[in-house]
Amino acid sequence: MEFFDNIKITYADKSDKDLNRAYFLFRIISRPFFTKILTSVLQLAIRIRLPIKEIVKATIYKQFCGGTSIETSQSTADNLWKSGIGTILNFSAEGKETLEDFTMTKQEIIATIQKANQSENIPFAVFKPTAITSFSLLEKITRRQTLNKQELKEKKEFESRINEICKTAVELKVPLFIDAEESWIQGAIDEMIMEMMQKFNGDKAWIFNTLQLYRNDRIAYLKEILSDAKNKNYFIGLKLVRGAYHRQEIERSNDLNYPCPVHKTKEDTDKDFNLAQKICIENIDRISFCSATHNEESSAYLTDLISQQNLKKNDKRILFSQLLGMSDHITYNLANKGYYIAKYVPYGPVKDVMPYLIRRAEENTSITGQMSRELTNIIKEKRRRKNS
Ligand SMILES: Cc1cc2nc3c(=O)[nH]c(=O)nc-3n(C[C@H](O)[C@H](O)[C@H](O)COP(=O)(O)OP(=O)(O)OC[C@H]3O[C@@H](n4cnc5c(N)ncnc54)[C@H](O)[C@@H]3O)c2cc1C
Repeated sequence: MEFFDNIKITYADKSDKDLNRAYFLFRIISRPFFTKILTSVLQLAIRIRLPIKEIVKATIYKQFCGGTSIETSQSTADNLWKSGIGTILNFSAEGKETLEDFTMTKQEIIATIQKANQSENIPFAVFKPTAITSFSLLEKITRRQTLNKQELKEKKEFESRINEICKTAVELKVPLFIDAEESWIQGAIDEMIMEMMQKFNGDKAWIFNTLQLYRNDRIAYLKEILSDAKNKNYFIGLKLVRGAYHRQEIERSNDLNYPCPVHKTKEDTDKDFNLAQKICIENIDRISFCSATHNEESSAYLTDLISQQNLKKNDKRILFSQLLGMSDHITYNLANKGYYIAKYVPYGPVKDVMPYLIRRAEENTSITGQMSRELTNIIKEKRRRKNS
């Protein structure tokens, strides 16, 4: 798409070495067969503790992660900022299950909020609910099952952790995204975040829930919360995404024989994503939102909506966001044109971010169509550099 076509701007801060690394990486993971083998080998190697950490770190990790800690992610954040791109530090350690893990992760999330408070280039903080409580508890709450004494205690602890994180964010004036997950645990998350929005979003949107527009009930939900916010006079914060668990949603609804909660066609998801952007823009005095997508059409459509509504390109109520290492042509060209934009920058110990890295590898196979675009752009830039 012409809007995002400036390849020189896209790779302005990448050295030849960076470009070559990205080229080889995307070449390898472009083949679904290789990716399948590679991800299985990686999982096994990590499990049996083969010393592959340094290889992973120099390749796929370097492409998609900022560093192992907040401090070591600093140079990535500084580099992005030179191109007018903010950073959203995302502690991406997954698969944590103990009380000790949850407490440690809560502290780490609070540390990212404190870091954002001290840094003009870190406009938001973020966390994933299953990083601070157990999946099974969220599932039970979503199903409205009766909780036993121990579970009631865990629920209280979860509420207290969320409350502490949200309170810190509001006190330090750092808007906070909460990621969305599988539909069978999302009900519990939605309820909790709605409570937080009502409590903390009285003067502006500090707390942001995430809407997955592959779900076939989310436009109705958006209208419902909008009406509630108008009635009760609070502001809404939303991160709009298409959704990362499409296959799992379809499989589970088939296996357990309940109505499928997600759209069956990509067109329906695209339609709802763009409709959600339109509704948000039309209610911009009530809703602040982030368009979190690698989709060129949706990103370009939002730039049209912004100009149709006579809003400023860098209106702080409308953030564009992509993941580090992906769709740089969208990020860098939007930044260059003056839009408000930030990258999600995942960080964490190599073995803990492996599930995240494996999802990125799978997402970039040629099946999804994403890779060919990344690779085509890298090849174009390599050629441009050679000829210039
Ligand atoms: C900054 C950022 C934050 C994110 N946070 C979250 C989060 O909190 N929770 C979360 O779930 N995801 C999150 N994601 C991931 C996101 O949901 C998508 O999986 C990913 O961005 C790909 O979608 P897209 O809009 O970029 O692009 P596209 O490539 O245009 O769309 C791919 C998406 O379309 C949908 N889709 C694909 N095939 C079909 C089909 N046959 N029928 C219906 N729909 C289909 C799926 O959602 C798929 O992921 C985030 C992404 C970004 C960039």
